[in-house]
Parts: sequence; C-alpha cells; structure tokens
Amino acid sequence: MTETRADLLAMLPDELAEYFRSIGEPAFRGKQVFSAYHQRGLTISEMTTLPRALRERLAETVEERMPTVSRKLVSAIDGTAKYLLRLSDGHLIECVLMRYEHGTTLCISSQVGCAMGCRFCASTIGGRVRNLFASELVGQLLAVSRDSGERIDGVVMMGIGEPLDNYKEVLRFLRLVNHADGLCIGYRHISLSTCGIVPRIYELAKEGLPITLSISLHASSDERRSAIMPINRRYGIDELLTACVAYFKETGRRISFEYTLIAGENDGEAEAEALAALLRRYFCNREPIHVNLIRVNEVKESGYRRPSREAASRFCQTLCRLGVNATVRRRLGADVNAACGQLRRTAERGELPNV
Ligand code: SAH
Repeated sequence: MTETRADLLAMLPDELAEYFRSIGEPAFRGKQVFSAYHQRGLTISEMTTLPRALRERLAETVEERMPTVSRKLVSAIDGTAKYLLRLSDGHLIECVLMRYEHGTTLCISSQVGCAMGCRFCASTIGGRVRNLFASELVGQLLAVSRDSGERIDGVVMMGIGEPLDNYKEVLRFLRLVNHADGLCIGYRHISLSTCGIVPRIYELAKEGLPITLSISLHASSDERRSAIMPINRRYGIDELLTACVAYFKETGRRISFEYTLIAGENDGEAEAEALAALLRRYFCNREPIHVNLIRVNEVKESGYRRPSREAASRFCQTLCRLGVNATVRRRLGADVNAACGQLRRTAERGELPNV
C-alpha cells in the first residue's frame, strides 16, 4: 500500500504548525512555510529560511504539487496571457491572466477535463480526467504570479472543469487564498461559475463566504437548456433559480448569469424577452442580478456559430429595457485561444500555435 504523502501547499497555517510538531520540528515552521509558499511562490527546495537538512528531509517525504509553466501565449491585442500549466503528474491545465482597470484577475481551472458534457464547450470533450487538489488550485495563482511578476487581485473559477463537482478541494482553496498570511484575496474578488449542481449551491450558501456566484444559464426553457446542457435533465431551471434566490437571501450577494449567444439558436428577440420574463419571475427588482452575454467561441466539434456584435447588443438592449441588468462581455485574448479548454486540447494533439 502506498502511504499518502503530506500535501503542504494545501494546508492552512494551523495545520502546517501541527504537521511540523508531528515531525518533531518547531511549530513556527508552519507559518514560515505558509508565507514562503503563498506570498513568495517558492517551492520547498527554494525555501532557504529553512535549514538545509529539513529541506532535504521534506523533499523526500512530502508531495509537492506546485504547477509549472509549460507555455505562455500573450495576446498582441490586449496583453491577456494564456498559460498552459503542467501538473506534477504531467496533466495540462489552463489559466488566463486578464488585466482590467480595477486590477488583475486570473481565470483558473478546477478539474482536468470536465464531466458535464455541455455541447458548446471544449473542456468537456474528453470527459473528466481527475479533480484538482487544493494545492493545484492555489498553485495556479502562485505559478502565474511568479512568472508574470504581478499581484493577482481577483480570481474567477471559469476555466476547465466544474468547480462544484470538486467541492471539497474548492472550499479549501477559497480559505487558502483568502488567508491574511497568504495571498489575502477578498472573497468579494472571487467568482465561482457553475453549470448548476443545485444541492451544492445550497451547501455553498451556508459556508458564509461572500463570493460571487455565476450561473451558466444559456437558455430560458428546460427543453432548450437540456438540449445543450445535460445537467439540466437532473436539475431543471426552476430548481436552479430557486436555489439562486436562496443563495442571494443567505449571502446578500448579487448573482451573475452567463448566457452564451449562439447564432440562430438562442440569440433572437423572442429569446431575449423569454429570458427577461424568466429572471423577473424569480428576481423582481433590478438589483440582485446581472446577465453576462458571451458570443460563443466557436469550437470545431460543436459546429455552433458566433452571432454578430450587433445581434449581441440588440439582445442586451432588450434585456435592459425589460428591467434586467446585462452587458456583453468584452472578448479578451482572442488571438491566444483564450476560450476555455481549447489550448489544452490543441497542446495534447501536439499542434500548439507559435505566438
Ligand atoms: N463549469 C463551470 C465553469 C467553467 S466554464 C460552468 O459551467 O459555469 C466557464 C463559462 O464559459 C461557462 O459559462 C461556460 O458555459 C462558458 N463556455 C464554455 N464554452 C464556451 C464557448 N465555446 N463559448 C462561450 N462560452 C463558453
């Protein structure tokens, strides 16, 4: 039987202190290692504040899951950087570093692949390979911050994978990145996007973490949503929106809805009106929701087409006219394959572009 090795990067300071005590070392090493990992992005072998003998001992006994940068593609248009990161077992994941006026945000992956099967999404084509560990979730921020030399102010969990299908590790990750002795990223600067695993939305509401919940809605009828998102056959729109209302009541946090516009499928006037009517049934005033409209990124396998900018802004205007806050998401990193899942697939086929 193989013994599980301690994953120090996934431990909170108290747990690290306990770990060092258990191996006969002073507890203050816990705080030292926590800040060396989370504030400086170092690996154990680089932590010269630790005695060499201890570093060597740790190198032989612990699991180190810090991802490494495999490729980095920087957009010539807007400076968005797409990272392909290699995990310690060789799997590849993606993150996207985006610069906004209010700070730098990293879009991270939550799983290798995805089991959810959404028809328009590249990340799910090969299914779910495995969940990411909390250390690999936070490690994405550390690796990218170290490579770019930039502080990361916010996180969106909108990369590869379904975060609520990896609940335990995601929760631990949230506590790690928020910790004052670590990256100290405020919960309000963290968004979690889900295709709608309803029981986990209720669970998350009870955790008392004021993060932003983003719901991938993409359709306003069960028939249409089930056709593009298999999860809807399990938890329909009514159950999903009821959970969203409960989340808002519990946390006071505005809910954000993602709606991917697909030409000729869901981008017409009638669909905009139906979407507004649906949302207004659950949320009666303007305040607590926001709809993000995204023109679909074309994925070869799905055959869906991207609507025009004009069609998207017409859709947006209809929503706003009917009392629903909405904006069309600006497209960042268009030249670096920044849409989720596409770079990993290209890399696995050995066809990486030279940007
Ligand atoms: N599994 C989570 C988070 C990852 S996907 C979720 O479903 O929310 C992040 C967002 O990108 C989701 O809203 C997803 O539906 C959307 N998305 C996936 N593929 C896309 C594509 N080809 N074009 C536009 N948006 C896409």
